Amino acid sequence: MSAIDPTTAGRRIDTLPIRNSFAALPPSFYTRLVPTPLPSPYLVCASASAAALIGLDTAEFQTERFVQVCTGSVTLPGSIPLAAVYSGHQFGVWAGQLGDGRAILLGDVPAAGMPGMELQLKGAGLTPYSRMGDGRAVLRSSIREFLCSEAMAALGIPTSRALCVTGSDLHIMREVPETTAVTTRMAPSFLRFGSFEHWFYSDKQDQLKTLADYVIDRFYPDLRDASNPYLALLREVTCRTAHLMAQWQAVGFMHGVMNTDNMSVLGLTIDYGPFGFMEAFDSQHICNHSDQQGRYAYSMQPQVGHWNCHALAQALLPLIGSVDDAKAALEYYKGAFAEKFDGLLRAKLGLQSAQPEDDKLMDAMFAIMQGSHADFTSFFRRLGDLQVDNPAADEPLRDLFIDRPAFDAWAVQYRARLKQENSQDRPRRLAMHRVNPKYVLRNYLAQTAIEKAQNGDFSEIDRLLAVLEKPFDEQPENHRYAELPPDWASQLEVSCSS
Ligand code: AMP
Ligand code: MG
Repeated sequence: MSAIDPTTAGRRIDTLPIRNSFAALPPSFYTRLVPTPLPSPYLVCASASAAALIGLDTAEFQTERFVQVCTGSVTLPGSIPLAAVYSGHQFGVWAGQLGDGRAILLGDVPAAGMPGMELQLKGAGLTPYSRMGDGRAVLRSSIREFLCSEAMAALGIPTSRALCVTGSDLHIMREVPETTAVTTRMAPSFLRFGSFEHWFYSDKQDQLKTLADYVIDRFYPDLRDASNPYLALLREVTCRTAHLMAQWQAVGFMHGVMNTDNMSVLGLTIDYGPFGFMEAFDSQHICNHSDQQGRYAYSMQPQVGHWNCHALAQALLPLIGSVDDAKAALEYYKGAFAEKFDGLLRAKLGLQSAQPEDDKLMDAMFAIMQGSHADFTSFFRRLGDLQVDNPAADEPLRDLFIDRPAFDAWAVQYRARLKQENSQDRPRRLAMHRVNPKYVLRNYLAQTAIEKAQNGDFSEIDRLLAVLEKPFDEQPENHRYAELPPDWASQLEVSCSS
């Protein structure tokens, strides 16, 4: 495996060492095709830290060539553009064949610490899997995916990355006409649970095995030595999914469309659509306006993650060979989730040890947050400023609660718990601020950047990206980005329209 040093590589876009490892799979796994370029494209935004992962010199962002490559009008030597086939369960129902309906994989570039980083153009035109869609993505949803991918990475949450968004004045129809854009996404792989389901439900065991072997050999080589590598794969993906769900819950991230075709076999957050970050805490909150039943509400995410792992287990069953073994692998989910989530919550509360009564303290915390619809991010951030012997300093935290007596009662318990482990204010504050972000991608922040961009001013995207890249830093000069949503934000609705 050739790894590059991303800090010194300084690669030009024209000489990016791209190849397409996925294209080595049999042709039934994809359709080779070229992107449909956007007319008169221009750069909207780009991420230097994403570029660093593939050793790309950021000076390239300003070149016409970079924009051409990222909108699909130029194919780099070595690239084999293709759209992959997959299927999936959507909102709990088997949806049959789906596939990359608007994303085109260009290939993969050597990257430090991984087998390669795939580059994919989302919104690059029609494919055989476009069904009723137009193969395009609008600027609005592309900016949201760009900002959130990079924000999640900075939060330390496994995710696909976004190298850039390129746009065009071409209009397409959604609820209203909107301009189009292409997001250049990156991940070691965009394979989904639905990639396996596709072969299981079409009864093609050879292809199922080919795909599983590809995933194991390329991304989980250590599992090759297991007595049953396919079972080991299921267990590993199950644990990674559980850990990912714990990280989402701990930061208040809601994906919005946790269909099995949006679940990464590498345990990454992928396919950003109608996502949201929890603001006024409501465990039943549904971020996706199209999800009327609340299947993917905040409180549901951990169990939906488990349900999705069951779907994956079903698809891998012919290779695993034993229902009991598959069930045993799925059993790891609950423990993996609980252990990870407990650890994250304890860190969020600044607790050094685990005590039997902690569950009660945390349940009571969520109950008072729910009762007052306290702002999720501000609550944890301000909790870090609490001083054990000085309740008078609690005011900014206390201000988040309509029910002040409920907060006061909980704060008494929390202080007692901190005293029990002789917790010191300063080190606890530092540690808590390293895990409780001050800045997340609130809907109104994204909306402000989008509206400016729709008027041709992309500067707010850059400013917001810079803030979100350091979510744990105080950044006093950017404090306004940590403010509670303005009244108009309550009217914002995010749906599957993208
Ligand atoms: P999603 O739930 O947004 O990840 O998309 C579900 C499926 O619909 C995937 O197969 C997408 O490729 C496809 N899709 C979504 N939007 C479009 C579009 N505008 N054109 C073609 N296919 C699309
Ligand atoms: Mg999808």
